[in-house]
This record gives sequence, structure tokens and C-alpha cells, in this order.
Amino acid sequence: MSISTAINLFLEEYPVALKQKFSGHPVADFIRNEIPSTLRELLAFEDRYIVHGSAGQGNWVKVPWIAIYDRFVTESAQEGFYLVYLVKEDFSGVYLSLNQGVTTVRQLYGSDAKVALRARASDYIARLGKIPNEFISGSIDLSVKKPSDLGAFYEAGAICSKFYKRGKIPDDKTLENDLRELVNYYFRLVIKDLSPASSIAIEEDEQNLNQEDLTKIREHKRIERNRKLSEAAKKIHGYKCKACGFDFSERYGEIGKSYIEAHHLTPLHTLKGQKVTLDPKNDFSVLCSNCHRMIHRSEFVDKVEEFKANYLS
Ligand SMILES: [Zn+2]
Ligand SMILES: [Zn+2]
Repeated sequence: MSISTAINLFLEEYPVALKQKFSGHPVADFIRNEIPSTLRELLAFEDRYIVHGSAGQGNWVKVPWIAIYDRFVTESAQEGFYLVYLVKEDFSGVYLSLNQGVTTVRQLYGSDAKVALRARASDYIARLGKIPNEFISGSIDLSVKKPSDLGAFYEAGAICSKFYKRGKIPDDKTLENDLRELVNYYFRLVIKDLSPASSIAIEEDEQNLNQEDLTKIREHKRIERNRKLSEAAKKIHGYKCKACGFDFSERYGEIGKSYIEAHHLTPLHTLKGQKVTLDPKNDFSVLCSNCHRMIHRSEFVDKVEEFKANYLS
């Protein structure tokens, strides 16, 4: 399957499928499995992206979608910002859009959610200054009829998008280039989000760092805060500090049970490119809070054994 086949399926076969029984329908299966695996292959150079497609749960949604999440920003369509193929409600075309999670914004802003989404979108655009060629910035038109529908919030949440009109879908090479271009823009925005100009307060261990190092250490911390990855790492490596052997449950009893910090071993200087490996077994270790702070101040940030030999023996 290719992207153009996928878009055709959205525009031609989906409206027909909508009138048929949902459960076990091949179109729903395509959207859930085949299309995401095609996109995964295209993004194979990097395991930071998660691809998820939905045609509904239990019943058809009005319009299907496929989202691509940077796992350091979000792992769901409900929060953060991510790439998504959105179909117009009248099936006259598809947008590839860098868009925002709607659920948490709605919880925070209630009836002002759309205003907040538009404001956030312009803030994101302002941070990078320029959007890719042939893309449009800001709100899009999904032909949503009811202003309370989810789609109306995606119209407001659009940061940077490109429209593919039914009957004029470009060839696969163009579609793939567009996708790569927007993934690249997404990546730069994620990095920018971690920079000193962002609203995150400077922490103790971030003082005196230059802009580049600060961005790197924040990217590193973001990896370590990824709950799925860090929990997998802890399950594999256990709950004793790999450097000093400290065991929280031995010292603190019940409240220290299963407490340890996951530490990502990729050297910080490689984080600048897009190649970050995220294998909880080989790319992570576990450390107590003291050793974790100290290893980040040492020159052995990716080598626990050497840190141990140099500082703890
Ligand atoms: Zn320790
Ligand atoms: Zn760490």
C-alpha cells in the first residue's frame, strides 16, 4: 500500500463503507493496520514516531484519521501536538496537518478552547518563523457542520497543513516528500520546545549550560520521562542503583518499593541528529537519584560502569 492508495481509500471507499456494518469491515482494518504500517516503513529511520489509525471504536467515526506521534511529545491524539491525515467531512479532500491534541485543551479552556488552540498554533508558528513551502499556516476547513464536533476543534488547532483535493491527489513521491518535510518541521518544533526560550523553568542541573547543551539535556530528560519506556527499563534492570547499589525499599521500606530512576544511555552529543535508539534493555540503565544527578555532571553520562569505577571505588 502507498500513501495515494490510502488517501483514495479515505475518499472513495470510506463513504461507502460508512453505510455498512462496522465490525470486521476490511476498510476499518486497512485504516487500523495497513496504512499505519506503510507510514511506519517510510519513517523507519527513526523509532521516535508512533503511527496510529482509527476508523472508530465499535462504530464508524464520521471521518477517519491517521496520526503520527513523536513519543517525546505525546502518545495519543488527546494532547500535545502531532501530525495527522484528516479527511474533510464532505470527502472532497484530505489534509496532512501538524495539529494539536484537543481533549486537554478543552478541559482547560472549556468554551474558549478554539481561541486557545488558534493562539497556540500561532505561537508554534512564530517559534520557527517559517513554515515549509506549499504548506499553509493556521486554521483549516474540514467542512464540519456542527461547531461542537471534534472536527471543528481540529480546524482551529491546525499549525501547518497541506490540502490534497479529491481527483487531484499528487503522486506518491510528492506525498512522501510532503510527509518527510512535515515530520522534519515537527522535529524542529519539538527541539525548539525544549530550548531556553521555551517556558520551562531552568532547573538546578541546567544552570550555566549553553543553549545547545541545555536543549540536549532537556531532550534526554524527556526520553527518561516517557512512562512506557522507563517502566519497561525498570522491569528489565530492577530497582537497585546500577552505580552504587542503593535500594530504596531497603532504606525507606514500603514507600521506597519499586522506586528507581531510569537513565537513558545514548551519549548526549548524538541526540542532535534524529537517530535516537530507544530499546529499554540496551539503551537504558537504572540509578538512584543521587547517582543520576551526578552521572549527568560527569563525563561518563552514557557509561555507568566507568562512572562507577571513577567516582565510586
Ligand atoms: Zn546510586
Ligand atoms: Zn539520565
